[in-house]
Amino acid sequence: MPRVVFGVGGRARVAAEAERLGIRRLFAVCTPGRADTVRELLRTTGRTIVGVFDGARQHVPIADLEAARIAEAAAKPDGYVSIGGGSATGFAKALALGTGLPIIAIPTTYAGSEVTPVWGMTDRGEKTTGHNDRVLPRTVIYDAELTLTLPPNVAAASGMNAIAHCVGALHSPDSDPITSLFAEEGIRTMAMALPAIARTPDDITVRSHALYGACLAGLALGSVRMGLHHRLAHLLGGTFGLPHAETHAVLLPYTVLLKIPDAPDRKVRIARALGCEDAVAGLFALARRAGAPESLRAVGLRRDQIAEAAVRAADIERSAGNPGREAELRQLLRAAYAGEPPDPGAHG
Ligand code: NAD
Repeated sequence: MPRVVFGVGGRARVAAEAERLGIRRLFAVCTPGRADTVRELLRTTGRTIVGVFDGARQHVPIADLEAARIAEAAAKPDGYVSIGGGSATGFAKALALGTGLPIIAIPTTYAGSEVTPVWGMTDRGEKTTGHNDRVLPRTVIYDAELTLTLPPNVAAASGMNAIAHCVGALHSPDSDPITSLFAEEGIRTMAMALPAIARTPDDITVRSHALYGACLAGLALGSVRMGLHHRLAHLLGGTFGLPHAETHAVLLPYTVLLKIPDAPDRKVRIARALGCEDAVAGLFALARRAGAPESLRAVGLRRDQIAEAAVRAADIERSAGNPGREAELRQLLRAAYAGEPPDPGAHG
């Protein structure tokens, strides 16, 4: 687990944390349009910023990563600081995978990547992921002030992504009591924070709660293997170019419904954490209350892609030891495409 610095104004600790890690030449990574914010933020830290790469994109496309490597080679850093969501963290991780240099992560969404040793890259529509301790950030700074600019609808999708990590951890064959505790508390915290962010986006306390939930969700994600939900979301993101968090947010109630016959006890834990009777209906309602997107159509899937996505997803499930799921997956994708309430009769 990385060293965690949690608190409003925590960004002021970048210099001290770099010092602890022996970093003299920081290379910053962020998403497009945020370079000035990042420069301004780092200006006050008194550290040498030898370069800023502001081309981080979701799913770490190889061509963009190459551009980051070229910028990095010119800057000759001895450490990275990623400031932003999972895309910024993901690029810093992909660079660190090659160099082994330390990362200070300053997350500004609820992706949770900052506390996992998981990396991902996409090459010609195929997303590859792996685990490597080299990419695990050494220090994570959670500063809720930096999340005040995260639009409530992006926060909603990102928070549902964090809940998906928790649900995935509860369902995982690797789950243990500690991971399950993180997961259940992560769901509970996010389920309280997300509707509150939608109502009062400037409330620093609820933004802090959401970061706490994101950290727990990331710890749960990093401890176990994920299942069908994550494989399906990665397929839709990597191959069909759908946005990461939004896709997770839409899929979650449908994938939980599909998995429930295998795991009634998990359903109870999810419902308990959500504070409702039924896990599937609770997740569906929460996403809507928080303002997350409501259908795969709304996040960019085309109707004519459903059949191909179902075939590919069934292939992936077959490789994971779950054969014969194509019809169920097609039905799931159709319902999620339309944003229909998940039908408990759908999977027998
Ligand atoms: P993102 O990082 O792309 O951010 C979404 C949008 O929000 C971007 O446009 C970004 O510029 C903007 N943004 C971020 N913070 C902001 C702020 N404070 N104010 C205003 N705008 C802000 O999206 P994400 O969902 O955080 O991350 C998705 C990526 O993370 C995907 O590539 C996914 O695969 C990866 N991920 C990896 C892991 C892991 O453990 N390896 C875990 C979760 C997600």
